Amino acid sequence: MHEFAFAHKIYKIAEETAKKYKAKKITVIYLEIGELTLIIPELLRESFKIATSGTIAEGAELKIEILPGKIKCRACGKISEIQITREAKLTGLQLFQCKYCKSKNTEIIFGKSANVKNIQIQQ
Ligand SMILES: [Zn+2]
Repeated sequence: MHEFAFAHKIYKIAEETAKKYKAKKITVIYLEIGELTLIIPELLRESFKIATSGTIAEGAELKIEILPGKIKCRACGKISEIQITREAKLTGLQLFQCKYCKSKNTEIIFGKSANVKNIQIQQ
């Protein structure tokens, strides 16, 4: 359940911003989540509800945008977008193939992070 850890981190970031603006309530949180985090939006929403119960973010809506992962090929140097297959999710196997030269000698350069892009508050 790493969604709960993410939910807590998101709350902390949003709370800090809200305090800066002397907000009474956080109403919406806009998130960008890399696909390779394997976060399940429904689980994240549930965890967030629990993590923020009784706080200024209680009842806040999460607007989640899932962004595809990106890899850089060590063989040809090109950058490809990747999609996680069902098999990769099930096995945890993460060998990604370069779209251009088909090499599997690649490194992940994006997709394992989750960011708070923006928040909406009530003052
Ligand atoms: Zn390549």
